[in-house]
Amino acid sequence: MVYSNHFDIAGIMVILTSLICAWIRPKLMKNFSKYLKLLIMLSIAYNVLDFATILFLKMQNPATWFVTYFLLILYFVVLSLFPYRGALYFFEICGEKYNPLILRIPLYSMLFLSVFGNIFFDFFFRLDKETMEYTQGIGSYVVLFYYFFVAIMVADCAIKHKRYLGVIRLRMLVTLFCVTIFNIVYQILFPETSITGLVLALSVALLVVVFCFIDVTLDDLTGLNNKVGFVRACDELMHKQDMTGYSMIKIQIYHMQELNERTGMENGDKVLLLLAENVKKAADEAKHKAVCGRIGGDTFAILTDEEVTINTMAKASIQDFIQNPLTGLDYAVSFYAGGYKIEEGDNDIDSMLDHAGYALKWVSGNFKTNVAFYDEDIRKEDEHRKAVEQKVRNAILEREFKVYLQPVCNTMTRERVSAEALVRWIDSKNQMINPSDFIPILEKNGFVTELDLYVLEDVCKMLRDWTDLGIDVVPVSVNFSRVDVDHAGIVEDIIAIVDKYELDHSLIKIELTESAFSENIGNIISTLTKLHDAGFVIMMDDFGSGYSNLNMFKDMPIDVVKIDMYFLRNIENSEKGMIVLESVVQMAKRLGLEIVVEGVETQEQYDYIRKLRCEMIQGYYFAKPMPSEIFPDQVTAG
Ligand code: C2E
Ligand code: MG
Ligand code: MG
Repeated sequence: MVYSNHFDIAGIMVILTSLICAWIRPKLMKNFSKYLKLLIMLSIAYNVLDFATILFLKMQNPATWFVTYFLLILYFVVLSLFPYRGALYFFEICGEKYNPLILRIPLYSMLFLSVFGNIFFDFFFRLDKETMEYTQGIGSYVVLFYYFFVAIMVADCAIKHKRYLGVIRLRMLVTLFCVTIFNIVYQILFPETSITGLVLALSVALLVVVFCFIDVTLDDLTGLNNKVGFVRACDELMHKQDMTGYSMIKIQIYHMQELNERTGMENGDKVLLLLAENVKKAADEAKHKAVCGRIGGDTFAILTDEEVTINTMAKASIQDFIQNPLTGLDYAVSFYAGGYKIEEGDNDIDSMLDHAGYALKWVSGNFKTNVAFYDEDIRKEDEHRKAVEQKVRNAILEREFKVYLQPVCNTMTRERVSAEALVRWIDSKNQMINPSDFIPILEKNGFVTELDLYVLEDVCKMLRDWTDLGIDVVPVSVNFSRVDVDHAGIVEDIIAIVDKYELDHSLIKIELTESAFSENIGNIISTLTKLHDAGFVIMMDDFGSGYSNLNMFKDMPIDVVKIDMYFLRNIENSEKGMIVLESVVQMAKRLGLEIVVEGVETQEQYDYIRKLRCEMIQGYYFAKPMPSEIFPDQVTAG
């Protein structure tokens, strides 16, 4: 008989290498379940025992007979335990509720045969006391059959839970199945050499690599589930029990990026850890099993049936949270939460998260509350958003967007001095949809840039045609969204379109809404400066609707301020409103900016604006937005 230690040494090396890999990312070792840890230990034990017995057999010293015999028995015990532990682990991965007897009966039989079967019948092997000659028994083949039986059971379970397992884990199980079958065939063909130790080590190494580096389920910072882990844990829970009464809750820290910038990343991490602690506590203290995780940079999620959780999370603990000495920040940290009550038949975790996320988005734009559940109103809004998103691509191709123009007039002379291009969507059913119903949606999915450039091109085409026809043209302002500013190459795109129609740049004005000015200032300054240098007039739209930082006037290349129409509402009755408006007008004048007052509807408002000596007015008082074709022929009222 030829004995060789090479495969055992290789096996031990493989396990050690994979453990070193895991040690490099120690936090991720938490990804190992107790079954995987046991498997690692068993495969080490197997290889060490194999190594030791071969060493003793090679020595052929009858004095060591008893030790060798004992080690060989132990070796077969470990060999029998491995598939049992392995199967338990794989059933856990598959989320299978197995019948323990199916696995335990063969295991106990193998263990019994390893010890007593061998002592009395040389079931696995025979070891001659004088020559130390080792002869294989029938048991070696029974072990192969036992491995085959377990492999088939695991494969059956994996097929049953294919959807739940996901691609990575399924492929991993297929690989392990193939390797096990290969080992069985190899042992039958070449009974003299055993590669079982190496095969077990490779299998364990594959598990370690998959769970430590590929299918990572824990978040490095907080130790909670990450998105993958959370979805998996939710799936597992849904697999096991009825979800009636459960809700999916998403929690987000308010302005995390700003928090990081103002207080430093370290403090940002502290806040995340603190919230993680709260979230975990809420999940741990729930009466029925709850699952939690950190599913994005600033976003946590809990799946729970504890009704109070959402309120506790969002209201009670918010106070602790802000005042917690741990954060020690002079920065009020708060968060908001969105929830979705699971309905019968729901089984897609991503869509539950989507719904909760939509409620969260709704809350983030709402100053009155920081908690909301996905209810009928939010559902309608969400459905509207989805319907718009579906229709919009086609709408651009089908040219369903039409440009309307609204004149801007000189306050004194009442002459048209320019116009604003306002988009209208006339859908396939000939219904007109207003921009406020679709622009915010397009801003979220990024299509708005395409639309704005489309409007710009339409305006340019129109101005070219009118000029060619000898019609007097006025400059036209085009609205650009804050999303456009971050769009790579936006300046070049704008210039290219205007130049394509050989128009003077001064004929196009760029309107950017005021809220855009408070975000990503650096980018806005550089984009606007480039456009300004190229000869475009820059307008700040809706001034006064948000919380402008007056300071930015000195850094921005702004030529015109459009004062929001909300300033005018009830202005006649509000002395304070008047004071604010008058101061804004004074300031703009002193900074050398031109002023357009929007939304002038009545004679009183007109008279008042005239008195303030604002140069330009836009509003229903003069004209409503009109289809661009009729713009040159319309005489302005008023
Ligand atoms: P905005 O740029 O401030 O445009 C002025 C809005 O006020 C227009 O609403 C206009 O119809 C309305 N308006 C004008 N005069 C009066 C008035 O006297 N009384 C009242 N009550 N309203 C008046 P519209 O057309 O519904 O547009 C709403 C917003 O949608 C615009 O506000 C602008 O921010 C956005 N928008 C419109 N077209 C585009 C576009 O092509 N691209 C982008 N990104 N946004 C656009
Ligand atoms: Mg505008
Ligand atoms: Mg405006």
